Amino acid sequence: MAVAFATCPLCEAGCGLELTLSDGGVDRIRGDADDVFSHGFICPKGASIGELHDDPDRLRTPLVRVDGELRPASWDEAFAEIDRRLNAIWEAHGRQALGIYLGNPSAHNLSVLIYGRALVKALQTRNIFSASTVDQYPKQMASALMFGSGATVAVPDVDRTDHLLILGANPLASNGSLMTAPDMRGRLRAIRSRGGKVVVVDPRRTRTAREADEHHFIRPGTDALLLFALVHVIFDDGLEDLGALAAHVDGVDEVRELAGAFAPEEVATACGIDAATIRRMARELAAAPHAAVYGRIGTTTQRFGTTASWLVDVLNAITGNLDRPGGAMFPRPAAGSSNTSGEPGRGRGAAFGRWQSRVRGLDEVFGELPVACLAEEIETPGEGQIRALLTIAGNPVVSTPNSERLAAALDNLDFMVSVDIYVNETTRHADVILPGPSPLERSHYDLALLGFAVRNVANYSPPVLEADVPQEWETLLRLAGIATGQGPDADVAAIDRFIAYEVARRQSADVASGLHGRDPDDLLEDVEPRVGPERILDLQLRGGPYRVTLAELEAAPHGIDFGPLEPRVPEVLRTPSGKIELAPEALVGDVARLHAALAEPVNGGLTLIGRRELRSNNSWMHNLPTLVRGKERCTALVHPDDAERLGLVDGAAAVVRSRAGEIVVPVEVTEDVMLGVVSIPHGWGHDLPGVGLSVAGEHAGTNSNVLADELLLEPLSGTAVLNGIPVELEPAHPRVRLTERAGHT
Ligand code: SF4
Repeated sequence: MAVAFATCPLCEAGCGLELTLSDGGVDRIRGDADDVFSHGFICPKGASIGELHDDPDRLRTPLVRVDGELRPASWDEAFAEIDRRLNAIWEAHGRQALGIYLGNPSAHNLSVLIYGRALVKALQTRNIFSASTVDQYPKQMASALMFGSGATVAVPDVDRTDHLLILGANPLASNGSLMTAPDMRGRLRAIRSRGGKVVVVDPRRTRTAREADEHHFIRPGTDALLLFALVHVIFDDGLEDLGALAAHVDGVDEVRELAGAFAPEEVATACGIDAATIRRMARELAAAPHAAVYGRIGTTTQRFGTTASWLVDVLNAITGNLDRPGGAMFPRPAAGSSNTSGEPGRGRGAAFGRWQSRVRGLDEVFGELPVACLAEEIETPGEGQIRALLTIAGNPVVSTPNSERLAAALDNLDFMVSVDIYVNETTRHADVILPGPSPLERSHYDLALLGFAVRNVANYSPPVLEADVPQEWETLLRLAGIATGQGPDADVAAIDRFIAYEVARRQSADVASGLHGRDPDDLLEDVEPRVGPERILDLQLRGGPYRVTLAELEAAPHGIDFGPLEPRVPEVLRTPSGKIELAPEALVGDVARLHAALAEPVNGGLTLIGRRELRSNNSWMHNLPTLVRGKERCTALVHPDDAERLGLVDGAAAVVRSRAGEIVVPVEVTEDVMLGVVSIPHGWGHDLPGVGLSVAGEHAGTNSNVLADELLLEPLSGTAVLNGIPVELEPAHPRVRLTERAGHT
C-alpha cells in the first residue's frame, strides 16, 4: 500500500486529496488534512475520482467511425484518418471550415491550458467556441473593461471579510467559482462566527442561502437593477469612499450620474425586493468594516450579465472595499500572469468585436465567437461555413442553447474529431474520438483557476497512476502537426520545444517576470531535462512573483501557501490609462437598455433558471454510481402557488415549453423557489442513442438546454441567457411516460 497526494482537478476548488493505492488502483480517497488550502475538505465528487478512473465506459483506445459505427482503432490509424479528412476539407473550403469547441474541463487540465492555445493558433480558424459563453465571460469582460484584462478578476477575501453579499451564486454547491475556495460552508460559517453577516440574493433558496443571515428572492435577470439601486443609495447618502484607491479610479462622477435613475423605489417592483430593504442593504454594506460583493452564474448568464458584473465591482470600489483586505481583492498566482506592455501597471486594455460571426454578425469576445451561434454556422451554406468540428473535453449538445438544433447540425458535418474520455451526447456524432488519460493519470496544476483563489497558494501534483493512453499534450501536438502540414507523424518533441521557446521568449520580454531580459535559450537550459507542460510550467513559476521552481512544488505535496491576498493596485492594472475605469464606454452605453427594462410589465409569466448540484459537474460525473444514487435530481422546482394555479402535482410530470423547445420533467413543489420561477439543473438528458454512458443512461434526466434559446443573448459578451428564459408549464398527459418523452428530447 502506498499513499499519494494530489490536487482534485474536477472543479475550481482544487482540494487536496490523500489517495491510498494498491495493485495499481485506488483503495481509498479522503481529504488531505495537511493541504495548505483545503485542510482536509473534500466533496463527494472528489471522493469518487477513483470510480471515474475505473469507469468501464471511460475510453482507453481511439475510436474511428467505419460504416457508420465507432470502432476501436490504433492511434496511428486515428491520426491518419484525421490527417486525410481534415486536409481534404481545408483544400476544398479553407481553414475557416473547421470549428473548435473547448469544454469546461479544459480549464482544469494543464495540458489543454498550455497546448490548446498552441493548437488553436496552428489551426488558423476564427471559428472558436467554448463553454465560456455559457458561463463567465460577462464577468471577465467587465473586468477587462475596468482593469484592462479578463484575467484580472477581483474575488471576495472571504476569510477576512465582515460582510459578504452574494448574488446568483451557490458556493456551497460549487465550492466557489471565479472565487477558488474549498470548503465554502466553513468559510461562510467563519464570517458569521466572527460577528459578520452573509446576505444572499437569489431566485431560489439555495444551500448557501440557508447558511446566510439573510436571503432575498429576486426576479431572474434583475440583479443589475438591484445593484444600481445599491450604488444609488451609497451616493445618495454620501457614503461613497474610495479609500486608498481614490487616486487610481476614473469615472466616479459618471457612475454617480447614471445611478441617479435607479432609485430603490424605481427598481423594487421589477426586482421583487422592497425599497426599504434595498436601502438597508446598501447602508449595511457601506457601514461594514470590511465588505465584499460577489456575483456568479445567476448574474452572468442573464440578459444584463456584463452590466451586473460591472456593478458588483463598482459597489466594491465605492464602498472602499476594492483591493483591500476583507474586501474584493486581486489574487497573485504563482504562474500565469504577464505584462508585455513594457510598463508596469499599464497595458493595452481590452479589445472586443475584432471580427464577427458569419451568419448573425455576433462579435468576437476574448478571441471566440458565442457558442449560441455554432449551430447556424454549421447549417448555413456559403464561404466560411463550418464543415468540420474539433471538440476538446466538451459536451455542447447538453451544455449549450437549443440542444436539438445543435445535435441536428452536428449530424450534417463532413467530419468531426473529439478529444474526450467518453462517448457522450456530443462525441457520439464524432468520426474520430481520441481519449485522454483519467484525472489520476495526468499531472495537475490549476494554471487558470489559481488566479481566482481567495488565498495565494500553489499546488502541483504528478500523475498518481500510470496512463494507458498518451497524455493530452502529446495528442494535441500531433493534431498541431497535422494543422501545420507536418502530417500525422510529426515530431512532437520538436513542436514542444518550439512552443517552450516561445514561452521563454515571452518571459524574457515580460516586465513583470523574474526572467525579464534573460536569453530564452538559457532559460530553456535551466529547466532541462523537463519537457511538455512541466517544462512550460517551470518557466512560468520561475518568472512568477514568488520565483518558485517546479522542483520546490514537487517537494511540497500539500502545496505552498504564499499568504493572504495583498493589495495590488496599480501594479495589477492593464488599462491604457493605468487607472481603474469605473465607467467604461461600452458599459455606460448599455445602461439605457437596462433602464428600459424598468418599463417592462411584471406580467406573472414563468421564468426558467438553472441550478447547481454538489454531486454533479455540469454535463458529466453522471456515470458514477456513487454520485447518481438516491433521489432524482433533475426536477423542476415550482412554487406551491404556481403549482396550484397550473394544476401541477409534486412528483408528477410537467411539460415545460419555451420558444426553442419542450421537455418533460418531474415537478418538485417547494417554497424554496420564488413565485413565478422554475428551476431545472442543466447537464442532463443522457438517454440519446449512441451514448456510451451506461450508468448515466439509467439516471438520464432531461436536457434543460433544449429550452435555452440560442437567440437570447446578452449583447455585450454574446453569452447565452440561461437564467431568465420565458417558459410555460402544464401537466404532462398522464399517458405520456417520462422515459418516452425524455427519449424524444
Ligand atoms: S470541491 Fe471540487 S476540487 Fe474539491 S473535492 Fe469536490 S470536486 Fe474536487
